Amino acid sequence: MPKLSSRVAGITPSGKDGWEVHFEAMTRKQAGEPIIMLSVGDHDFHTPEATVEACIRELRAGHHHYTQLPGIPRLREAMAEASSACTGVETSSSEILANPGGQAALFAATLAAADPGDHAIIISPYYATYPPTFRSAQVDVSVVDALAEDGFQPRAEAIEAAVKPNTRVILINTPNNPTGAVYSRETLEGIADICRKHDLWLISDEVYWTIAGDREHISPRSLPGMAERTLVVNSMSKSHGMTGWRVGWLTGPESAIETLVSLNLVSTYGLPDFLSRAAIDALENSHGVAKIAARYSSRRTVFLDAVRSMNGISVRGSEGGMYIMLDVSELETDDEAFAWGLLEKEQVAVMPGSSFGQSAAGHIRISLCQPDDLLREAAGRIARFAGTYA
Ligand code: PLP
Repeated sequence: MPKLSSRVAGITPSGKDGWEVHFEAMTRKQAGEPIIMLSVGDHDFHTPEATVEACIRELRAGHHHYTQLPGIPRLREAMAEASSACTGVETSSSEILANPGGQAALFAATLAAADPGDHAIIISPYYATYPPTFRSAQVDVSVVDALAEDGFQPRAEAIEAAVKPNTRVILINTPNNPTGAVYSRETLEGIADICRKHDLWLISDEVYWTIAGDREHISPRSLPGMAERTLVVNSMSKSHGMTGWRVGWLTGPESAIETLVSLNLVSTYGLPDFLSRAAIDALENSHGVAKIAARYSSRRTVFLDAVRSMNGISVRGSEGGMYIMLDVSELETDDEAFAWGLLEKEQVAVMPGSSFGQSAAGHIRISLCQPDDLLREAAGRIARFAGTYA
């Protein structure tokens, strides 16, 4: 076989990482072990029935054909309306590019914001695909630590210290995966200042915006001078319970979106017609949105209540999104060892924090994608495992 390009061969580094715990847990669960899976961020419930019905209806109505590259007009309008609500900035459909999922929108934003050899800044702890997404675009990345002691809110001075002459873009995520931190206005204003001062793009991943718990979701697109330099990543995966449907979008300046339509020409060639129409129904009627947000808020409360009494374990961030970060460093500094021990002894699968970047070392990430009773049971098992360190 001829050599593969370094662009694709370099996307995933070889070697083990935290996902090994998850894959091992999956294997054991499939073999019948009573493992509680708290390792991935996919809902334990199905897509709302009304959305499923809409999709079947649209399929039966014969919507089986190619669609417009940036999305069919009514879908872009529905997405623009959702973006207006998410960002607080009146958004028109010409500022929307529909994509098959938030990850595809993120990939488009990455290609739009930087050339090969340019430099990008991401914040640790980060969503696992961020480094490889930039690697695939041959963009160098610096990782700036958001610290547990700051509730995982990144400090502007640390970000600015990482800016280089070839920096083109900063990527942030609020509400955050994995920390659950919801960025404050102060945090976002600091980041916006840096973007304006150094003429940078800001990619703002807001896929969890409807699940902000008791906090207010603030989009940096709403800050002065930021609409012209912010690319917002959005998705129906989390907000509308549609992870497997692959519907997301990018919001950005009209001229950038116009250029990016060509990227859809050579990559996705548009979204499926029947899916687009089901997505319109889900967006226009907000199918599932309030219920899903309420469910995760209640699960967060259930789990945090259980954690409060655990010796040697504390919580930082964990305000929104679908995750909770437990600081286990008082018990065990090697978070991977903690996660393996928890799987072996108590059959609970979690993600070791260090797989999300250095500043999450000594933590484990809990996904709230299980019903209340299983979350309570898992918390009890974690407490029992923590007790073995006494
Ligand atoms: N961004 C973040 C922070 C995520 O956690 C995820 C999925 O877990 C995505 C983007 C991608 O979501 P999707 O491609 O399902 O829209």
